[in-house]
Amino acid sequence: MSLTTLTAQQATTVTTAPAARAVNVTKRYGAGDATVAALDDVSVALHRGRFTAIMGPSGSGKSTLLHVLAGLDRPTSGEVYLGDTEITSLRDNRLTKLRRDRIGFIFQSFNLLPTLTAAENIVLPMRIAGRRADPDWVASIVETVGLGERLDHRPAQLSGGQQQRVAAARALASRPEIVFADEPTGALDSRSGAELLGFLRSAVDELGQTVVMVTHDPKAAAYADRVLFLADGQIAHEMHAPSADDVLDYMKNLGA
Ligand code: ADP
Ligand code: MG
Repeated sequence: MSLTTLTAQQATTVTTAPAARAVNVTKRYGAGDATVAALDDVSVALHRGRFTAIMGPSGSGKSTLLHVLAGLDRPTSGEVYLGDTEITSLRDNRLTKLRRDRIGFIFQSFNLLPTLTAAENIVLPMRIAGRRADPDWVASIVETVGLGERLDHRPAQLSGGQQQRVAAARALASRPEIVFADEPTGALDSRSGAELLGFLRSAVDELGQTVVMVTHDPKAAAYADRVLFLADGQIAHEMHAPSADDVLDYMKNLGA
């Protein structure tokens, strides 16, 4: 397939479908009386070039939703689309390839390789996949991530916040259609967390990335364009470009 054809196809996908969506997704764990519905008939579309935060109490289904959308876990029923591709019906090897080629994931623990420099860590997944990094794209990520000369340092020589920014740059390096992050600031102090969130925000604003992030921190959620609130496996509420105080007020009222 020529490069031109591929670009045209990608352009079509960009204009026709949300980056990802769930349609009537239910995820149950366990059997019989012990069954837990981690997700209960959730339908949601995640738009391209937007930063979406997912909030909710512990156990409300946030990680399950993220994992199901990212193809890391399969729903009990319902459909999940990445662009136009329905992913729940894909066989394991197809799903693995799709995740590698089209999805980025940032975990709470950074998962960097200790023997490689920051720069080497950033391009490692593409090396493994035998793909050539787009040098302009990687350069813009590296500039946005703001690590400067520390790119030649190994993870042990970097702060937690710097390591997480390397992990975020790595998730973006293959130019995925969507980046998922599960509590990416959970292990960071507030200043490092703010740096990471600033990076994700710039990736959306300056590079057009699509980011979906689970967080329990109203300040983190305030970086997003849209905040979805889960409760008991359902989407209970959503807010658009809320302030941290707006988010906090909503959470307080829930508790009342
Ligand atoms: P959150 O990320 O919002 O804290 P989760 O998505 O991790 O919530 O979990 C939602 C519900 O599903 C919880 O009740 C949790 O105990 C249950 N759950 C999640 N993963 C599993 C699992 N692998 N086996 C059994 N129950 C699970
Ligand atoms: Mg969770």
